[in-house]
Amino acid sequence: MPAMEDKRIVILTGAGVSAESGLGTFRDKDGLWTKYDLNDVATPEGFARNPVFVHDFYNKRRQNLVDATPNAAHHALGRLETEFPGEVLVVTQNIDRLHEMGGSKNVLHMHGEMLKSRCDICMHVIYWEGDLSLEMQCEQCGAAGAMRPHVVWFGEMPFYMDDIQMELDRCDLFVSVGTSGSVYPAAGFVSQVRHRGKAHTVELNLEPSEGSAMFHDSVLGPATKVVPAYVDELLANGW
Ligand code: NAD
Repeated sequence: MPAMEDKRIVILTGAGVSAESGLGTFRDKDGLWTKYDLNDVATPEGFARNPVFVHDFYNKRRQNLVDATPNAAHHALGRLETEFPGEVLVVTQNIDRLHEMGGSKNVLHMHGEMLKSRCDICMHVIYWEGDLSLEMQCEQCGAAGAMRPHVVWFGEMPFYMDDIQMELDRCDLFVSVGTSGSVYPAAGFVSQVRHRGKAHTVELNLEPSEGSAMFHDSVLGPATKVVPAYVDELLANGW
């Protein structure tokens, strides 16, 4: 058994970890996908059909993100990274910046970041808190109308997949927080970890996710309660 300083933890997070910061989830009963058709606002085809509508959708969401603040769950995960003697990596499906604001430094945004924008022509990425429009020019290549949210839409390849696969293969503990387990490839991470047979797996969620049966342990409740309690226990007694 490796010493604690040689151990590696991967935390996968989803919309549920940010729900109590006022950022809506997608699939819960009041979720965004009950109000919008994801084919219109979260696919490259939807953007090609009606870029003004898609910009408007993300412009509204972006302002919510700018004002949002991290909750106790984000802070607890930041504390875990600081206090755990080994390595802690947060792999998030979230496009907000609340993990970073909560103190996490080792974060991979597999679905991109809403407070960044990218040129569809030259792929140049900028930090961007304001609205996007078709009038905007790329500061690198000068193309007009090609800036888009730096997020991964359905049908596009998530970011950092090689790094994530490597970390899943070598982690000792895999914890999934606030994700419905219905969006692949993230939904398949737990089976990948279990297939290897080495790591312990834990789910922290409001309700059992679709992949709940795959986890060794499941703790149900709001993230602001269960995540800080779990982190305290982990730092005190391991897993
Ligand atoms: P999802 O909406 O499919 O599922 C959210 C999960 O969180 C559900 O299982 C729900 O039971 C749980 N949950 C809700 N409130 C919770 C709380 N207070 N505490 C703990 N768990 C809670 O979200 P997902 O699985 O992340 O789906 C993936 C997609 O949603 C991703 O592509 C992600 O980019 C996107 N998304 C991101 C944000 C964000 O960046 N904050 C917000 C909404 C959706």
